[in-house]
Amino acid sequence: MTEIIQFDAPDFNELGLAAPLLKAISETGYTTPTPIQAKAIPLALQGLDLMAGAQTGTGKTAAFALPILQKLLPLASTSTSPAKHPIRALVLTPTRELAIQVEESIKVYAKHTALRSLVVFGGVDIKTQTQHLKTGVEVLVATPGRLLDHVEQKTLNLGQVQILVLDEADRMLDMGFMPDLKRILALLPKQRQNLMFSATFSNEIKKLADDFLTNPTLIEVARSNATAENVSQKVYLVEQSSKQALLTQLLQAEDGKQVLVFTKTKITASRLSRALQKVGLAADAIHGDKSQKERMEALDAFKAGEIMVLVATDVAARGLDIDQLPMVINYEIPSAPEDYIHRIGRTGRAGASGVAISLVCEDEEKYLAEIEKLIKRTIGKEKADVKAATRRTAEKSHEEVIESNRTKHSTKPRQHTRKPSADPWFDKPYEPATINNSNVLNTAGSARKAPVAALLGGLRPSSK
Ligand code: AMP
Repeated sequence: MTEIIQFDAPDFNELGLAAPLLKAISETGYTTPTPIQAKAIPLALQGLDLMAGAQTGTGKTAAFALPILQKLLPLASTSTSPAKHPIRALVLTPTRELAIQVEESIKVYAKHTALRSLVVFGGVDIKTQTQHLKTGVEVLVATPGRLLDHVEQKTLNLGQVQILVLDEADRMLDMGFMPDLKRILALLPKQRQNLMFSATFSNEIKKLADDFLTNPTLIEVARSNATAENVSQKVYLVEQSSKQALLTQLLQAEDGKQVLVFTKTKITASRLSRALQKVGLAADAIHGDKSQKERMEALDAFKAGEIMVLVATDVAARGLDIDQLPMVINYEIPSAPEDYIHRIGRTGRAGASGVAISLVCEDEEKYLAEIEKLIKRTIGKEKADVKAATRRTAEKSHEEVIESNRTKHSTKPRQHTRKPSADPWFDKPYEPATINNSNVLNTAGSARKAPVAALLGGLRPSSK
């Protein structure tokens, strides 16, 4: 593997990109390529396989999307014939949210070209996706399971794919996608370019790169397994029973700031968001038990600033592109240390500064030690000072919520959370979807306005 050290290009015009792409970039408001873009774009344009270490928030989507569009540009066609629009680039992502965001960005960058893109993911009606696929698309963004559904139903053909992107490859492995990936890769032409992006470089990731990439060039924009330099991290040592009071206190003190709160389980996410609502905070939860529609609505409300506190399980941690998110709070720290990096990577994006606070009780100290080992630094710790008044309110609402949960779930068996970081949909073994899938939300319904990009060095002042 060759390690490339290259100077960052001062502006997009020097990366060798075509005029329609430069026009879209400038309209988006980007002035300077981010380090990953400056490194990856010229290499990808040369047709090299890349293994890129870049966290979400570094501008990695444009780092692969722009060279893909550039390479496909000579093949762009205005013809309405589907045959003129075969799938030429395939982007695989671990989560639906990331898939949607990636495809939104591709659409933005491709808006002055005749190239078409589409996103397909599970949990929504497959028929709508099939109709869109039939019209032909050059760039397909997909989650692995739904892609295989389409393969099974013969609603797409991967025989002309020239470029494959594995986005957030580490998360794909964490989520058990290896068998799906192997099946998909076997369907692609052998002659193709592969671009792999991963926030962390474990041995498994290196093995994946060895198996699927041809003589890849390694590029890194930050130390592997490093946490974003511009995120200040802090730990509050607190008893488990006082966590909710402490969280309420912290959120009330940060009134006006948007905060993403992480929990380990779906049940805690739901319970906590209801408890926060009870103390008057505009909160909602997103996790795998919510329907795709509910998740998108909560996310949109958060992005629009209607919700100030979004409580999420790790499924929401990856890929979420929330403009200028100033703070992340780990209500429970993750047992997999890599998840900590992914979680705190939601703040401090595209050059902005962010704060990551973790509430750690005695039982979690062993996980904290593993996190510190992984990030090779000690996080500042402080014993929490939970105010009695907040504690009383939080305990009261906590008891009420527990009571309402008890009534609500009394006839239901307890939730089984095998691996809370994974969306349960992804946990299921691969099953082909049936044609008569009755889920009703279509992809068109989920099309949202692309979030306004946070410009490097040009961030709007916080709304606080
Ligand atoms: P990503 O890591 O691809 O999810 O991108 C993170 C954020 O950075 C997104 O909001 C992008 O719109 C934004 N972004 C990407 N490239 C640039 C750039 N060159 N200048 C400013 N913002 C960018």
